Amino acid sequence: MGILDDVRRLQTGGTDQEIVDANTETPTGVHVTFERSSPRRFDLVVGADGIHSAVRRLAFGPESDFASDRLDYDRYDAGQQKDILARVYAGVGWQVPAVMKAVHRAGDVYLDSISQVRIDRYSKGRVVLLGDSAYGNTLGGFGTGLAVVGAYVLAGELAAVGGDMRNWGIRL
Ligand SMILES: Cc1cc2nc3c(=O)[nH]c(=O)nc-3n(C[C@H](O)[C@H](O)[C@H](O)COP(=O)(O)OP(=O)(O)OC[C@H]3O[C@@H](n4cnc5c(N)ncnc54)[C@H](O)[C@@H]3O)c2cc1C
Repeated sequence: MGILDDVRRLQTGGTDQEIVDANTETPTGVHVTFERSSPRRFDLVVGADGIHSAVRRLAFGPESDFASDRLDYDRYDAGQQKDILARVYAGVGWQVPAVMKAVHRAGDVYLDSISQVRIDRYSKGRVVLLGDSAYGNTLGGFGTGLAVVGAYVLAGELAAVGGDMRNWGIRL
């Protein structure tokens, strides 16, 4: 079985790379095309790519169909994210000015919306979602455990069909 993440590391030296298409299924696999490398065939594509999952978007539809509104910013531009925070918290008192000074000095920053993913199925043919991409919930406080349990259940489901995707039907 081709493991997409291993291939990603081998082909790109571990850098992030967008999957461009994962919708073309054949009787023996799913044909995946990438942004910066050759297309490959996989037995299974697991979209464990987080709450803003590209795999979910490609296989199931746009994020707005399944998740809360997404903040509009460049996630690679820390300066832009600091500016957003500065605008939102401008004029707020108490400890906030000190916190904003620290944000301004910080080497990196993590900014995202509070989001919840609601989707009525986790698999479509040979593409399956796992973890936050399938059932992410920023404020739940149990997302990591759920992602691990989901991986355990998925492994069990794969073992149950002996890798024969003709009988595939995830019961998550
Ligand atoms: C502020 C905050 C606090 C939280 N606190 C808790 C807590 O206390 N306890 C708890 O259990 N959970 C907590 N969570 C939730 C928890 O972090 C997630 O539920 C968990 O990380 C989900 O795991 P995941 O593997 O599904 O997704 P992620 O951890 O988001 O991993 C997805 C991975 O996919 C990678 N990726 C995305 N796109 C691509 C691409 N195109 N190519 C290659 N790689 C890609 C990302 O870089 C990332 O490494 C918190 C979340 C947030 C935001």
